[in-house]
Amino acid sequence: KLYNEVQDLKGNIRVYCRIRPFLSGQSQKHTTVEFIGENGELIINNPLKQGKESRKPFKFNKVFGPAARQEEVFLDTRPLIRSVLDGFNVCIFAYGQTGSGKTYTMSGPNLSSKSDWGVNYRALHDLFHISQSRENSIVYEIGVQMVEIYNEQFHFLDLHTLGIWNTTQPNGLAVPDASMHSVKSMKDVLELMNTGLTNRATSATALNERSSRSHSVLSIHVRGTEVKTNTLLRGCLHLVDLAGSERVDRSEATGDRLKEAQHINKSLSALGDVINALSQKSQHVPYRNSKLTQLLQSSLGGQAKTLMFVQLNPDVASYSETISTLKFAERVS
Ligand code: ADP
Ligand code: MG
Repeated sequence: KLYNEVQDLKGNIRVYCRIRPFLSGQSQKHTTVEFIGENGELIINNPLKQGKESRKPFKFNKVFGPAARQEEVFLDTRPLIRSVLDGFNVCIFAYGQTGSGKTYTMSGPNLSSKSDWGVNYRALHDLFHISQSRENSIVYEIGVQMVEIYNEQFHFLDLHTLGIWNTTQPNGLAVPDASMHSVKSMKDVLELMNTGLTNRATSATALNERSSRSHSVLSIHVRGTEVKTNTLLRGCLHLVDLAGSERVDRSEATGDRLKEAQHINKSLSALGDVINALSQKSQHVPYRNSKLTQLLQSSLGGQAKTLMFVQLNPDVASYSETISTLKFAERVS
């Protein structure tokens, strides 16, 4: 039944909005969020401005308010994850300015506490759970891969030697085999991620610092063999923590920072163009315009399903970034 719900979605693209809470120490007074409806309605208002002009309505498939817990957010994502085991390709993105909760939604704030787990870990947990329950009819193999895209270059995390990023510009996007790692349980995944993250933090501080300026993609590849018929099925789940969408002031940014900003701009708008073309059912989908859309091409469009989390910081100080984030969301939904 859940599966049919996903099938019925218009164009297989859904957009969810998630508003993070004010953090402790932040003034609660000035929120831009005026109203959150049960059916995806959102009204944004700038309390420092007067008049009707400042009040703007938006509509999503769903809006999660500041009190929404990780578990609740995942419940609506779950049918998509399940469809990967039936052979579908799925992409889940988190879009928003730095500090809006992208990493919180995708990974969660704390790996060691299950209730904090974000979509990534809950997805893997479900994949293992469902695949085990089907093991008499379909035998599944699950592999994971981590890719970072920084300044329009791929960096594959070699999960065998953990923490070493291979900078590659692969011809025709053949992904290095070394970067794919077979996992059999949540324990494998958590060990992998913990070591990977620790290595990243200690051996490459610079990498860690630039995480908000790179796209990070966790790809989960699923291969199932039907026991009776020996038929093979493949599905793929890409979980993407996008680079921060904030506009960089051209008059202030120079050198490397300006270059980074230009690459981010270019790739986020290329992603927006692709999803927009798909939602318009356009004949031409411009996949070639960025490394991100090239990497995800086979999982965007066709039978594939796409979910975008549009992340908002409710603080009035973020008002203009919030509006520009919401404009991006309007284009892709
Ligand atoms: P981003 O990845 O978009 O830069 P983060 O996920 O790092 O943003 O979130 C910024 C801060 O806000 C972090 O301290 C994070 O723990 C906190 N945060 C984000 N979303 C939530 C949430 N839903 N509930 C509680 N804290 C949150
Ligand atoms: Mg982040």
